Parts: sequence; structure tokens; C-alpha cells
Amino acid sequence: MKKVVKFGGSSLANADQFKKVGTIIRSDEARRYVVPSAPGKRFSSDTKVTDMLYSCYEAAVNGEDFSGQLEAIQERYQEIIDGLELDFSLADDFETIRGDFSSHAGEDYAASRGEFLNGKIMAAYLGFKFIDAADVVRFREDGSFDDGKTNELLAGALEETDKAVIPGFYGAKENGEVVTFSRGGSDITGSLVALAAKADLYENWTDVSGFLIADPRIVKHPKSIETITYKELRELSYMGASVLHEDAIFPVRKAGIPINIRNTNIPSDQGTLIVESTCRQPKYTITGIAGTDGFAAITVEKAMMNSEIGFCRKVLQVFEDNGVSIEHMPSGIDTMSIFVNKDSFEEKEQKILSDINKTVHPDHIELESDLALIAIVGRGMKSTRGTAGRIFSALAHAHINVKMIDQGSSELNIIVGVKHEDFKNAIRALYEIFVLTQL
Ligand code: ASP
Repeated sequence: MKKVVKFGGSSLANADQFKKVGTIIRSDEARRYVVPSAPGKRFSSDTKVTDMLYSCYEAAVNGEDFSGQLEAIQERYQEIIDGLELDFSLADDFETIRGDFSSHAGEDYAASRGEFLNGKIMAAYLGFKFIDAADVVRFREDGSFDDGKTNELLAGALEETDKAVIPGFYGAKENGEVVTFSRGGSDITGSLVALAAKADLYENWTDVSGFLIADPRIVKHPKSIETITYKELRELSYMGASVLHEDAIFPVRKAGIPINIRNTNIPSDQGTLIVESTCRQPKYTITGIAGTDGFAAITVEKAMMNSEIGFCRKVLQVFEDNGVSIEHMPSGIDTMSIFVNKDSFEEKEQKILSDINKTVHPDHIELESDLALIAIVGRGMKSTRGTAGRIFSALAHAHINVKMIDQGSSELNIIVGVKHEDFKNAIRALYEIFVLTQL
């Protein structure tokens, strides 16, 4: 059994968190490859080391004195080293970093030092080998990620060592220039290491016990999701549920390696297992509910629209030409509605309306803003009758008017559109009917 374990910033924010991580790793021999993030927030008003590095580097580029900022970063690490009582120093590394900042070594290089230094401490603390991600995670000359080369380099390096720490978030081009993934990218590194190590499991340790059935800011103490498929996860993430970087899914999914989201602060919780497919029956008909606010709907009406060949395409072309992405498109016989992100639409509103008028000569265009979309997702729906009925009766009982309905043909999700002011109540009503009152 081989496990790759990735720890997020809050799991490594200080020495006490490091100790919890150490206990987790030492409690299971299979936890052989460790991917750390940079130290995150110790309390809610704290600053992540990555953000401190970005602003320190900006000061360096602007020719300002950045010594104070760099010292504050060094203190964050020293506090961890002291708390762990390690006989270990990062003094030389900080000298190198000071020089590299002065010679403007690059913003990505600057940000990557957060993971680099934390990885060094972690390796010293665990007695594992340190593998610099710059040597094994490869980016091409144009800055794009090179998955083939990375897998080859990583697999080679891991083969030579039983236990190693590989810092997350960054890699380098052939010439050594450091490149980072987007924010939260250590999740991606964890996934790449799991793929290269041919791991049985990728454990992603964070500060929540996996995915919750609904947003805890809306529903009080929602239950967590035990098992979710990649497809369900994608539907929920698209609607705003986020625990994991989206790009972290592809490498392990391809290789059939499950991801287990776990809580560093409550290691006894089993968290959420993300799998390709499962015959485990979900506990409830639905796996999760997620929603996003801030949509607008443009309804185009024209008599005999359905017999006018190319009508829909021409309307959609207008949105494409104006660079506005379409979220959903429910249609009637003589109407089609287009759901778009309100902010991106508002900038181009008048131009889009006039283009639609010019291209398809509709009878009427109606605009509605302040809409929210809610996705009710679950592999269990396919084999259950009456899911849609329950959704609508729950919403009707809560006096919520449904503005749009969209059921994906895979029967994995049903999306409903509601007014902004009904958004939270709708999610609560759905949670209640599927989770609290009905199994
Ligand atoms: N430290 C980086 C960030 O704050 C990457 C990560 O934590 O995954 O985005």
C-alpha cells in the first residue's frame, strides 16, 4: 500500500500543526510521499506566507527596502523550527532568497519559496528525503505544464527513494526558471506525485472533514459526503463548492487513484472519498447541493422561432462574438432563455441586445437579473423516482418560485433557477427534504 499525502497551508501554519501532521504521517507506514503547502493562516486575520512573499517581492521590484518584510517571513519559519525543537537552519536559504529578490528573480520564484522552505523543514522533521519540485515538475518554454516530462522525472526520482517530501505549487522550466501553478496549486502537485508513484490513494489533508452536502454558511451543520464520484464533484465544484483545486482531479482520475479529503484537526473523521465509480449506495438520494448567485437571464421571444433554421445559433453567436460565456439555455417553442454571469453580461448589455435585434429580429427580449442557480447533484437520482417532484414540492412549500429547470441527460443533476432573495431559503428547503426528513 502506497499513499501520497498532501497537507494544506492551515495544516502547516505553526509548530503545533506540524506536530499533528507528523503524528498522522507516522501512524501509517504507507504514507510515504508528502506534499506540503506553504504555512497558511494561524488565525483568521493572519496572512498566508505565500501572500507575504508576493508583497515582499513587489517591494523588491519597486526598489523599496524589503528587509523588514523578509525578516517577518523568516520569523514565521523560525517559529516553526523552534517549536519543533529542530537542529536546523534556513539562514543560508534566506541569504540566497534576499539576493534573488534583489536581482528580480521573478514573481513565481518568489511565491514558490513558501513551499520550498516548508518542504525543507518537513523533510528535516520527518527524516525524509527532500526533492526540490524544480527538478521534477516541468514546465515548457512557453510556460505551459509538461505532464509527460513531469511524470517521467517524478517517477524516476521516487523510484530511488522510499520516503520523500516534494514541495507543492511549483516546478521549473528546463533552464531552471521557476513557474508556479495557479493559487491553491499544491493540490495539483499532490495529484502528480500520486500518479508518478502509482499510489493506491491520494490523501488531501485540510481543515474540513471533506465535502459537505450543503454550504455550512447557509445550512447549519450540514452532514458530510462520504463518497462522491468525479462527475458529481465536477458538477458541485462548477456551482461553487470548493475544497480542491479543479486541475488536481485529472491526473489521478486518469490513473484510477481515489482522493480522500481528510481533516488534520480531526484525523478520526474518514472525510470524503472521491472515486471514478462506486457501487456504494449513497446514503441519501442526493449527494450534494451547491449554488451560485449572480446570474442574468435574457429571454428572446419570436413567433414561429422553432421553424426558423439557425435561429438559436445566430443568438448564441452574438454572445460568442461579445466574449460572454453561456451557463444554461432552457428553451420553449417560441422562446429561448440564455443564462449568463451577470457581471460579465452587464458590461456588454446594450451591445448584445442591439446585436440580437439586428441578427434575428425578435418580437420581444426580456431581461431578468439577480438570479441564482442551484444544482441538486446525485448519482442516486437515476434509480429513484420522484426526485424532481420532491424538489418542486419542497420549493413550493417554501413559497419559492422556480424560474428555470434543467435536468442533465445523464440524470446526475437537476438545476433550478430562483430569484436572488430566495437563494438561501431554497437551499435550506432542499436540504431539509432530502437529508433531514427523507432518506
Ligand atoms: N501556497 C499556495 C497558495 O497559497 C499554494 C497552495 O497552498 O496550494 O495558493
